[in-house]
Amino acid sequence: MATETGVAPREIVSRDPATGETLGRFDCGSTADVRAAALFARNAQPEWNQAGVRRRVHVIRRFMRLLHERKAEVAQLITRESGKPYVESLLTDVLVTLETARFCCESAYSFLRPEPVPHGNLVMKAKSGHILREPYGVVGVIAPWNYPFSIPAGEALAALVTGNAVVLKPSEYTPLTALELRALLVEAGVPENVFRVVIGDGSTGAALVEASLDKLFFTGSVATGRRVAQTAASRLMPVVLELGGKDPMLVLDDANLDVASSAAVWAANVNAGQTCISVERCYVHRSRYEPFLELCLSKMQRLRVGSGMLATTDVGPLIHENQIRIVEEHVEDARARGARLLTGGIRLSDLGQNFYAPTLLANVDHSMRVMREETFGPVLPVMPFDSEDEAVRLANDSEFGLSASIWTRYAARGEELAARLQAGAVMINDSMSCYGIPEAPHGGVKASGLGRTHGRQGLEEMVRGKYVDSDFLPDSNKVWWFGYGVRFTAQMEDFVDFLHARSWWRRIRGGLGAIAAYFRDGRL
Ligand code: NDP
Repeated sequence: MATETGVAPREIVSRDPATGETLGRFDCGSTADVRAAALFARNAQPEWNQAGVRRRVHVIRRFMRLLHERKAEVAQLITRESGKPYVESLLTDVLVTLETARFCCESAYSFLRPEPVPHGNLVMKAKSGHILREPYGVVGVIAPWNYPFSIPAGEALAALVTGNAVVLKPSEYTPLTALELRALLVEAGVPENVFRVVIGDGSTGAALVEASLDKLFFTGSVATGRRVAQTAASRLMPVVLELGGKDPMLVLDDANLDVASSAAVWAANVNAGQTCISVERCYVHRSRYEPFLELCLSKMQRLRVGSGMLATTDVGPLIHENQIRIVEEHVEDARARGARLLTGGIRLSDLGQNFYAPTLLANVDHSMRVMREETFGPVLPVMPFDSEDEAVRLANDSEFGLSASIWTRYAARGEELAARLQAGAVMINDSMSCYGIPEAPHGGVKASGLGRTHGRQGLEEMVRGKYVDSDFLPDSNKVWWFGYGVRFTAQMEDFVDFLHARSWWRRIRGGLGAIAAYFRDGRL
């Protein structure tokens, strides 16, 4: 179909990354499509908000029932479009979404109830204030391909339950999954125009940032996030940015090595390493370094790489050629700078074009790209440290700060170290699990992002706080209004003393001096 300019729109093709099979074709959403979606959403939002929290929770509960009934077909679609093993689609996309929906339903009433604001200032005691939480209006969501269901769903559910309308621009690699999310929401009772999806590429995303939105939630790379933030800043549009990570794992000298090595192998290779909070750097106390490497090596070599549709597969394909190329460059750079390749480091072309072998690297250091830049592939680089101070320094020596993990038998030791790490979340004796806890806020520091999704903080990002204050004495002029003068000024000095002087004597004297202000003549 030609556009008004006579130029055929770019085609978005959804492909199975394991086989290259075409799953669907779409016209790439134009600026006009994006604007229309935002306008439809704007017109539909007030009614959705006025429907009330009870109605919205009812609809989301119905969405949960539908998603649960169709969990297998939804998970299969996610696997076909993104490549991850079916069981990962089931747990990290479907189950995480169900849990997020449960959290939204359970929290919505108390969260949206007016919150009283107690007045500590004596002079303001004759008033009562509260905060109303009002939806922004139209919220834009730009999502990546790696968790193509749970990331947009998590943000959309929080937006919807708080009364917003949503326009979603999914990744061009996973449009079918986004349409499935929309189909479920609409069938559950979300009005068509309250949740709009515009299929497209980066240009469609850029058009959404320029569209008439009230807030934008962007999840993706740091480079794109920066561009999005610059455009949003020029319009004073608030944004939440969930960006990349280079998450460290610290294995202390008292850790259970068998458990920690299993965790490292899982958290570096889950979703073929394409997870923002995957373990991208592993630091192990030197006294345990070699035994840890041996355990990791034997576990990595047992990983089964293949199609995500097979129940026996541990690691599926990467999403596309560009992603494999980045992984290859990082591994090659590390080897050229002296890293020891213990296993992997090659494409598995006989499985298909996007498969890469789980890779274990030792003798790495911070001069290597694999320790500085996001690799986003099935690579586990492991480096020794000698002291806790050094471990903290290495962990914090990164432009990123998404999550981190600490492995020790002593929780108190772990928590002490956690306080010293620059990260949005620190897990002790687990990795990545925070994403499965919908009550926990998710987000990063430094280049990993701004703001939070998930948890109560994620709900707060969806609303504007409006402060409302009622005075109990509608027939009374306030003491501090006009009618100033020398005497009044002295009385107010006394009043400040009454509230804040250090000595009790001055406070009493101030109180006595100030009281006459209430009865003074000459007030306007
Ligand atoms: P990208 O930044 O390439 O893309 C993210 C989204 O932005 C996609 O929908 C993309 O569309 C869109 N987009 C591309 N260009 C623009 C633009 N100029 N303006 C607006 N939108 C645009 O990231 P990836 O999809 O490759 O995702 C991987 C990255 O996401 C990694 O860095 C990962 O760490 C991060 N991530 C962060 C998470 C977090 O919670 N912190 C969670 C998951 C991933 P299209 O795909 O069609 O090009």
